[in-house]
Amino acid sequence: MTDSKKAPARPPLKAVRGTRDLLPDQTPLWNHVEATARRLFARYGFSEIRTPIFEATDLFARGVGQETDIVSKEMFTWEDRARAASEKAQTLTLRPENTAGVVRAYIEHQMANSGALQKLYYIGPQFRRERPQRGRYRQFWQIGAEVIGPPSSGSESPLRDAEVLEMLAGFLDELGVRGWRLELNSVGSSQDRVGYNEALRAALQPIRSRLCEDCQRRAETNPLRVLDCKVPEDQPWIDTLPRIADHISADSRAHLDAVCAALEACKVPYHLNPRLVRGLDYYTRTTFEFTVTAGLGAQNAILGGGRYDGLSEMLGGPRAPGIGFAIGEDRLILTLQAQHEEDAKASGAAPVRLLDAYIAPLTPAQNPAALALARELRAAGLRIEVGDGSFKLRKSFEIADSLARHIVLLGEDEAGSGMYTVKTFASGEQTKIPRAKLAESLRGSLEPRRKLRTIERL
Ligand code: AMP
Repeated sequence: MTDSKKAPARPPLKAVRGTRDLLPDQTPLWNHVEATARRLFARYGFSEIRTPIFEATDLFARGVGQETDIVSKEMFTWEDRARAASEKAQTLTLRPENTAGVVRAYIEHQMANSGALQKLYYIGPQFRRERPQRGRYRQFWQIGAEVIGPPSSGSESPLRDAEVLEMLAGFLDELGVRGWRLELNSVGSSQDRVGYNEALRAALQPIRSRLCEDCQRRAETNPLRVLDCKVPEDQPWIDTLPRIADHISADSRAHLDAVCAALEACKVPYHLNPRLVRGLDYYTRTTFEFTVTAGLGAQNAILGGGRYDGLSEMLGGPRAPGIGFAIGEDRLILTLQAQHEEDAKASGAAPVRLLDAYIAPLTPAQNPAALALARELRAAGLRIEVGDGSFKLRKSFEIADSLARHIVLLGEDEAGSGMYTVKTFASGEQTKIPRAKLAESLRGSLEPRRKLRTIERL
């Protein structure tokens, strides 16, 4: 009896709902997006920060806000057992976003002490227990940045808001994202919000019983969050509520006007959207979102952010106003993939080949020589795969055609004469090349360079 007959059949394990594997045909684009962010952000003086993926739950309750959807419904939280009698059990949470963690680190490492403006960026996974769908996952990636510092560092200046927005516009343009749209608003200072909250509370009183259960609660605890409600039946009621734009102070208005003026000077197009409040409590004054048209359907926001002038103090730190954003990397990639598909359809493009050459030994006896040749060519910086001499020639050609731009045949003759038969798939051309010239000719691109290939070769 074979082992498979003895063992009871067990279903194969799968990735947890809302999480995904990024397979090798996808990772080059992810790496390209991340490399572009690193390169561009560095030009604006940003440095990378890496904070833990789990933190004390209290950080998010205090920072993001107890009444937000993220904190009240979406966090992966667990009680961490005390390991010793002297230790207290702690409630921990997988980070649902990274701004609170970065500001915690800013405070913990006394980064305010230098008096300088800090420009920090991060790239990493975030976790929210949301209903999974295209563009919405339970583990998703964000590329984000924060500009934070004591007021004397200029951290409150509208120039900083505009600089961040202009950098984001440049980032999307550099990646070739088409049809992006920047929506901008001011949610006012924390003082403005006191007045607005009162106005909202008063306006919510008579319509409260018509709203969903969550909004009935929010109307009491945190009226601003009613504006984030996604329940369709609530929307006509929400449209009747006072607009934040009518309740912001002259200072906040002037701040927003200055952001707009700087964007206009940089020729960055924007649209004012007085309903844009965004789902996190820490925002003050500028809030923004970039949306796209391609590839995302309902989840068309690829990034969002805003100013958080009081967050450091909410977390027990010094006064340190700041502004930041988080790009939904999964959504950005979906957009780029949808665009590449459109482009490929339009141009009838050939399959993408990632490797420079595939070395095909013609018999098993040539395997060691093939590996030695691959070693030499890889050392010269080429991307090489080696076949196996036991494969039929036809099979070697098929594999090579799917992987590489060239196939190099290695038989007894080639080993003896030092002249290698090389076929270039794009042109169908077959030539004999001496070993000393091999690296140079395999490197020379005989195929037209296409945008996607350029990306994957980065
Ligand atoms: P937020 O931290 O909510 O301001 O979100 C910033 C960006 O992260 C959004 O514009 C989305 O692009 C992305 N994002 C948020 N939640 C998810 C999710 N569950 N799955 C994928 N991307 C997300």
